[in-house]
Amino acid sequence: MRLTIDDRVVEADRSITILEVARRADIHIPTLCYHPALEPYGACRLCSVEIEKRGRKKIVSACNYLAEDGLVVRTRSPAVIDLRKMILELLLARCPKEGRILELARDYGIEAPRFEPDNERCILCGLCTRVCAELVGVSAINTINRGVERGVDAPFGDLSEDCIACGSCALVCPTSAITEMRNVFPVTTEMSREIEDEYLDGVRDEDLGVLFHLIAGRTSVAGQDGGVATSIIKAGLEKGVLDAAVVVVKRRGSNPEAVLVDEATGAMQARGTKYSRVSVISQLCRALREGKKRIAVVGTPCQIRSVRRLQKGYLDREFPGSDIVLIGLFCFESFDYADLRSRINVILGIDLEDADRIQISKGRYEVSIGEETYSCSVKDLQDVVREGCQMCGDFVSRLADISIGSVGSPDGYSTVIVRSRRGKVLLDGIEFEGVQVNRDEVAKLVSMKRRRAERSFARVLEGLG
Ligand SMILES: Cc1cc2nc3c(=O)[nH]c(=O)nc-3n(C[C@H](O)[C@H](O)[C@H](O)COP(=O)(O)OP(=O)(O)OC[C@H]3O[C@@H](n4cnc5c(N)ncnc54)[C@H](O)[C@@H]3O)c2cc1C
Ligand code: SF4
Ligand code: SF4
Repeated sequence: MRLTIDDRVVEADRSITILEVARRADIHIPTLCYHPALEPYGACRLCSVEIEKRGRKKIVSACNYLAEDGLVVRTRSPAVIDLRKMILELLLARCPKEGRILELARDYGIEAPRFEPDNERCILCGLCTRVCAELVGVSAINTINRGVERGVDAPFGDLSEDCIACGSCALVCPTSAITEMRNVFPVTTEMSREIEDEYLDGVRDEDLGVLFHLIAGRTSVAGQDGGVATSIIKAGLEKGVLDAAVVVVKRRGSNPEAVLVDEATGAMQARGTKYSRVSVISQLCRALREGKKRIAVVGTPCQIRSVRRLQKGYLDREFPGSDIVLIGLFCFESFDYADLRSRINVILGIDLEDADRIQISKGRYEVSIGEETYSCSVKDLQDVVREGCQMCGDFVSRLADISIGSVGSPDGYSTVIVRSRRGKVLLDGIEFEGVQVNRDEVAKLVSMKRRRAERSFARVLEGLG
């Protein structure tokens, strides 16, 4: 197929858009809402071009108009330039402080818009919502309302329960809109560094993150591994170092859920790993609103990232004097509980609701019911892994005050990474039997998870200038 773009004859395969043909031929067409890995959206119209077919001319969006044999395309005709100027003038009036818009407007000779300036950040390009839905898979944000009220928000404007703080939306957002939002928590690499500098005290280790100590410990609590997580919460509550803790319980007939406890018995009832992603933010906010000051939060790395982001941007300001300590768990991936339950029923013929204990160890998913143990390979469960986990590159909860897992320790022990003085205070409050950690085992999982996330992120990054 042959078409002419700006007087150049270019060849193209069928089913690709004018924009893609132009890009392959190094012909620049400006865009704000286009990303090669996402479905075309045609929202910003900045990629408008003039096409001529059988002597008739019309303006179309290059990002969603398919190339045709014999088509004549002009990317900078007077009509196209006028239209782009109008679009940019409107965008500049909407978002007068956004660098990318200012830059594009200047390229088209616009210094100031003729229209009443607004003070918005979001240009409604939909890149953030689409990347979150199509590439991350969690749909934590959506476009809301219509007309002048149109915007981007988490469901009901609440703090997002689904955001995994992967940062993809912030990478694709052409303005600062998404990073200004308070109810989703994009954490980019730079933001992660800032958080480490602000909240953690140890020395930076490329594999394990900022740390003071790396130890393996076993306590008197019969927890998932060495019971360290429960022991530090229990001791913190008993000794008055903590006012409350957000932990996760699994009640028969329901999904795992976060609860607020302020007594050691509550912490003990929440022992054990629930291999699901559970949002801890609403229980943390409830504790703060109830006037609790010293609060421990246990969470997977995605939850720890989300809480840190909220803490830095909002909680520290709104709840001065609050002292939040984050206990991060190691995590390679998690499962959708309902899907997992059905899958396990098919593979192992048991109901997960009857499980006395669930453990993932050395690539096997093991369920104990009474005296019996049933197991299958974790590989057989890949289709019920939660969406988004493939975008998560943090195995060891790098932003927590103290991180706890099992990899690297003998059976029955927890691997513990102490990252801040707050974390150290918690660990100093308990008694445990310590042994040496196999650091290489932990580093191996860190690098496997990082590589998987890098592969997933490559699709997000390929679309960036
Ligand atoms: C989804 C998931 C995946 C994990 N994957 C790995 C892994 O691949 N490798 C590894 O070494 N370790 C992994 N862990 C951590 C490991 O299973 C243990 O939780 C950790 O070693 C702590 O053991 P413990 O005996 O000290 O914990 P315990 O003393 O039993 O205490 C566990 C604490 O974690 C809380 N908790 C349980 N489930 C959740 C949850 N879903 N979200 C938030 N809090 C929760 C409990 O309420 C409790 O307070 C994973 C944990 C989770 C939640
Ligand atoms: S940080 Fe990730 S999960 Fe959260 S809204 Fe942005 S893209 Fe979605
Ligand atoms: S891999 Fe673990 S920490 Fe990462 S998004 Fe999934 S559940 Fe959260």
